Amino acid sequence: MSNNQVWDDEYEVVVVGSGAAALAGAYTAARRGLKTLLVEKTNLLGGASAYSGASCWLPGTQVQQRADVQDSGESAKAYLQAVMGDHEVERREAFVDTAPELVEFFESDPAIEFYWTAFPDYFNAHESKPLGRSMMPVDLPREEIGELADLVRPLVEYDRYNQPHPDGPLTAGQALIGRLLLALTNTGNGTIQLETELVDVISEDGRVTGAIVKNAEGTRRIRATEGVILGAGGFEANQDLRTLNGTPGNSGWTMAPAGANTGTAIRAGQKAGGVVEQLHQAWWCPGAAQPKGNAAFALGFRGGVWLDANGQRFANECLPYDQMGRVLAAAPERIPSWFIFDSRFGGELPGIMRPFNTTPQEHLDAGTWVKADTLDELAAATGLPADALQASIERFNGFTVTGVDEDFHRGENPYDQFFADPAYGPGPTLIPVDQAPFYAARMVLSDLGTKGGLRTDVDARVLREDGTAVEGLYAVGNTSASFSGGFYPGPGTPLGSGMVFAYRAAQTLKA
Ligand code: FAD
Repeated sequence: MSNNQVWDDEYEVVVVGSGAAALAGAYTAARRGLKTLLVEKTNLLGGASAYSGASCWLPGTQVQQRADVQDSGESAKAYLQAVMGDHEVERREAFVDTAPELVEFFESDPAIEFYWTAFPDYFNAHESKPLGRSMMPVDLPREEIGELADLVRPLVEYDRYNQPHPDGPLTAGQALIGRLLLALTNTGNGTIQLETELVDVISEDGRVTGAIVKNAEGTRRIRATEGVILGAGGFEANQDLRTLNGTPGNSGWTMAPAGANTGTAIRAGQKAGGVVEQLHQAWWCPGAAQPKGNAAFALGFRGGVWLDANGQRFANECLPYDQMGRVLAAAPERIPSWFIFDSRFGGELPGIMRPFNTTPQEHLDAGTWVKADTLDELAAATGLPADALQASIERFNGFTVTGVDEDFHRGENPYDQFFADPAYGPGPTLIPVDQAPFYAARMVLSDLGTKGGLRTDVDARVLREDGTAVEGLYAVGNTSASFSGGFYPGPGTPLGSGMVFAYRAAQTLKA
């Protein structure tokens, strides 16, 4: 009991959600000796983080040093300055300054290990790294995590089809969530409650002192003596909020787990006095329309061209996915549009699609792809104007001869080349579209989560409009407004920054 409150349970810290940010916060708090409760609304841990490629953009750490990659915090700061100008300097520099400490703290736990992985920074700017500054968790053998593995949400390839992760080690996002879960469990200070949803936070005299959670047993009031960390994702699955906030895309096309992240934690933070910002922003990506009406994250195009409804190219198809998403978001008439490719790729889309287990035939049967022997027939099947389609392909094929994309400069950035296949010669991003039959894949705007939310300070404290902190309340991951605003600087910015700010939040709690 405190003041007039009646509590059903008491912890020092309550963490809401179980993505990488929430688990990083829960683990850090628990390792510091704080009695920590983590509540997750679904029956599985990990959210979109478990679906992810688990690339973590964490510059200048011991992981880069081990791999002999030249990187430093100063270099990363200069890169962010070149990309983002003066946007959110204080938070972004706190992020860069803390990345090495986070990695050292995590890797001092036997459950957590990363390795450097090549993935170029997303902007060809001052101090960008052509092979990047990202890392991934080492695959996690089943025998190390044991039965806890069953609590981790399977990768999107399996989860969307209600299948468990196959036998073998946990990989990518599953490995990240599995390792954080194992580390949290090993502290002995963490309690996890699945199928338990945050409904609201409780405030007393302007300070957040607990959370109201709901599960099959009813509604309970949980006291949090040191703080509540909201890490419940964004609102990508809530179409009403997307519409209200003018967030381009669609709740049915997001890559986050269906129905999971609906913005409840953001709303709770607002009710407690927090202010929100950047609600129109998301971590965008092209989506390949799927037979069931949802979308698959499409990246790494190396062949084909992307045409709008007028049959015109409108961008460098090899752009980093968020930048291509922004091109689509800026002109809604490009959604949907068509990606045209020829048969030299064996009837497969010349890029990567996740989930990757829908076959070309399933797409053709569903009409999300069409196939034709001539470009005229393809125009008829897609509704694209035949003359414009022919002209666009001819012009692009001309660029494949000269080796220069005069319209959109495809192939001129290190990122463009990263996914290219050298088997296609000296200009492997400029490959003609000339081998019948031809294909068209319907494309939409997808996202990896929204990135607007509660405004926070360098320690993830939720801020009021007047800049003061709501004591006892923290927001991390996509529940908070990202420091990166309208930019996606490098592969792993969502996970890297989510974990860093959760770590900083948990380090400020009184132990
Ligand atoms: P999530 O990981 O989605 O976790 C939120 C959790 O909160 C969910 O489990 C949800 O069920 C739970 N929740 C929601 N509401 C409540 C409530 N009221 N009460 C309790 N629990 C609640 N990012 C990178 O940095 N690197 C990558 O390589 C990368 N690859 C990606 C690949 C794919 C296919 C996808 C889908 C995303 C990828 N991303 C990547 C993006 C990144 O995964 C997400 O932006 C990030 O994981 C969001 O983390 P989060 O912790 O905010 O939310």
